[in-house]
Amino acid sequence: MASERHRFSEAFLLSFPQYLPMDFSSKLLENAVNEMSQLPGIGKRTALRLVLHLLKQPEARTIQLSQSLQHMRTQINFCENCHNISDSKLCEICANSNRDERIVCVVEDIRDVMAIENTSQFRGHYHVLGGKISPMDGVGPGDLNITSLVEKVKSGKIIELILALSSTMEGDTTNFYIFKQIEGCNVITTTIARGISVGDELEYADEVTLGRSIINRIPFETSLKSS
Ligand SMILES: [Zn+2]
Repeated sequence: MASERHRFSEAFLLSFPQYLPMDFSSKLLENAVNEMSQLPGIGKRTALRLVLHLLKQPEARTIQLSQSLQHMRTQINFCENCHNISDSKLCEICANSNRDERIVCVVEDIRDVMAIENTSQFRGHYHVLGGKISPMDGVGPGDLNITSLVEKVKSGKIIELILALSSTMEGDTTNFYIFKQIEGCNVITTTIARGISVGDELEYADEVTLGRSIINRIPFETSLKSS
C-alpha cells in the first residue's frame, strides 16, 4: 500500500515544493533541513542545498553562523527613543549629535530606515512603528509604537513629523490614525511625495500615481536641487 505521503500527484507536489517528500539518510540532516525551511522564501530543496553546503565547509564556519544568530537573537536591543534595532540603549542615529532630533520620520520597520539612510538625504531622527494598522491581519494601533510617538510629539520637541509609510490602504490608514492622534499639536505633519519613478515614462504610470504627482507638484527649481 502506498504510504501517506505518496497520495498526492507529482504535478500537485511540484506546485508546492516545500511539501515534496524527501527520504533522509540521517535524522540530524532532516532536522537541520526542517529548521532551515521554516525561514521565509526557503523551501525544502533550497534548505537541503544550504545544509549540504554547510556540511562541505569547515566545522568552524557552521559554529560561527549559529553563534552569530544566537547572539543576534539574545543580545539585540531596540532603541529606547526610536525603536530601531540597535546594539545599545540608543541606536547610532539617535546617539549622533549631528542629527536633528526635531525632525522625525515615521517608518514601518528597520528596512525603511536603511532605505532612507542609503539616500543620504535625511539628517533627522526616525520613529519605527513596527508595522502598519491592518485589521485583516489583526494588527491594531495598540500593537504598534504609536503611543510613544504621540507622547514625543506632545512633548513639543518635534517641529516636523514626516509620515513615510508605504502607499497602501494600511499605510494610509496608519498615517490618518497618527494624524488624528496629534491633531492640535504644534507640529508640521508632512508625508513623503508620491510620484513618478526616475526613468519611468508617464504613459506607463498608473492613474493613482500620476494623479498624486499632479496634486503634489513642486516648483521646478526644487526639482533641480534634488536631482
Ligand atoms: Zn534610535
